[in-house]
Amino acid sequence: MSKTYLVLFQGLTETKDYFKNRLLSLGVSSETAETILKKAPVILKSSMTAEKVKKYATAFREAGARVTIMQEIGDSKESSIGSPPISIPALGDFTMCPECGMKQPRGKNCERCGYPLVE
Ligand SMILES: [Zn+2]
Repeated sequence: MSKTYLVLFQGLTETKDYFKNRLLSLGVSSETAETILKKAPVILKSSMTAEKVKKYATAFREAGARVTIMQEIGDSKESSIGSPPISIPALGDFTMCPECGMKQPRGKNCERCGYPLVE
């Protein structure tokens, strides 16, 4: 049995607008972003592999979120955190700009320096 993990959102390290804009660029609607902010602390996504959960947490940290990775114990979906998990669509694959090193969704020009990311 492999271990699974969840990501808990605890608050913001950036402004609300920054967070919402960053989430939009990850394909998360501003409605969902609002829900996350209202329900915090809240589980963003559960039942992820170690590799996936790291990607997910990194994406949210870069969006200005304070998140914690927690290991899920057994099959129990119960948690001491009152709110149920929010259903966030899977985040797209991320790529790193070869020019400036900024992590971002694939298929665009670099958000920071404009370098084309299309392979
Ligand atoms: Zn760049």
